[in-house]
Amino acid sequence: MNQSTLFFLVLLAMFLGILFFNLYQRNTTKEVHKCPKCDSLDVIEVDHQTVDSRTVIPSGGGSPAGGDVRLQLDMKLFLRCKSCGHGFQTKTTRTY
Ligand SMILES: [Zn+2]
Repeated sequence: MNQSTLFFLVLLAMFLGILFFNLYQRNTTKEVHKCPKCDSLDVIEVDHQTVDSRTVIPSGGGSPAGGDVRLQLDMKLFLRCKSCGHGFQTKTTRTY
């Protein structure tokens, strides 16, 4: 293996790393649900139920006096796949 091949592989590894990082970030900010039956991402929320709720104070940043208190909800989601019609449930945590 010569040096330019090695350089190319390093670049490729970095590129893939950034790509996966972006995908991961996207998944944490936007909820993506996948149908367990057909793996389709074309899933709609038909209903939801709040299982638990609590208030959280985000750490880091903001004044110590606070005021930045968020409501965090544990929710049960009722989802339906638009591709195959399969209905399923999942749990999620939402912060408001
Ligand atoms: Zn499906």
